[in-house]
Amino acid sequence: MIRYIAPGSLFLIAILAAVAASGPPSTASWHLTSESEALIPDATLRAQIFRALDAAESAGTDPSISHFKVRAATVVTVNKEDHIVLGGNTEYEVPEAIHGESSLLNHVTTLYGPDVTRHAVRFVAFFSERCGVSGSCGDCRDFQHAVTDYAHLFIVCGQASDHTVRVTRFSDQLVDEDKFPVASRDSLPITSGELAQLTQSAAEARLGGVTLFTTARHTGAAGLSFSGKIYRAAGGDDAAFHYRFPIGGLLQQAATERDYFLRAIVVVGEKGQWPAVSYRDRQYGFESSSFNHEAGKPPIALIITDGLGHFRATTFEAALPHAFSTVNFMPQALKDFLAAHQTQTPTAK
Ligand SMILES: [Zn+2]
Repeated sequence: MIRYIAPGSLFLIAILAAVAASGPPSTASWHLTSESEALIPDATLRAQIFRALDAAESAGTDPSISHFKVRAATVVTVNKEDHIVLGGNTEYEVPEAIHGESSLLNHVTTLYGPDVTRHAVRFVAFFSERCGVSGSCGDCRDFQHAVTDYAHLFIVCGQASDHTVRVTRFSDQLVDEDKFPVASRDSLPITSGELAQLTQSAAEARLGGVTLFTTARHTGAAGLSFSGKIYRAAGGDDAAFHYRFPIGGLLQQAATERDYFLRAIVVVGEKGQWPAVSYRDRQYGFESSSFNHEAGKPPIALIITDGLGHFRATTFEAALPHAFSTVNFMPQALKDFLAAHQTQTPTAK
């Protein structure tokens, strides 16, 4: 949420700092919005949130590309003692980053172990110049989903200018695959023939990829562009655990051919099961769909199938609520980029 108001918002981390919370009480006049007061009736938790916000202000960051600082903190109670833990963003090389919230949770685990991360982290608080409405990037959603008691996790943004504090539920950023609306062949924005082609292509893609570590979650994806081409990819893992995501993979192939506008993407998993679509992959899809939006085209249809003739369909906009893309941060740069990379007859794949 919120902390993402500049291009930099995409990137992060930071500092490994745990500060015993034995300092003086907060003197900052943090105050919850009325909606947030309803979410956090507990006075002890409120005090912890305000304390974390005070501490987050000094979280170290190194956003060398975006210059956007993501300063995060939480308070965990371990053996009846409160501890403040900080996280911040670091950016490096090609736009890569360690993100603030992932940094923070990793620090909690480093200091107190994974059980504390799962059971004692009740909120992630961001100290921000201005609180907006964006949530975490897809990858940080995957991470928070995996390592915290995510159903009960609160996301806090403390706005520096007026000390307003906004609290939301992390679960507002999640949409499980079984919540994707059931779709019939007729309700989709592609023809039955195109759907059959994409489904078959994705299923064939899934036969490949690299699955030395990935077992249950292996998927294949195929996408159809407005120029009529199909691109496909399967997930690929490696020893460094830098997983290559199927939707990201096919979108990269399409972009390589300057074929930037996709109509629909179909994802398949094991026959008889609905495939998981990770939030990181949704982030890639959302970014690409924002190109469509910029060009006045409909959003990309995200379609999943169980391989037995059943389909669910949504959009990346719906599957990644409160998302951000370069459209938000660099609207003119994106317009210029797409204009400069137009192809009348996109190169065949
Ligand atoms: Zn992130």
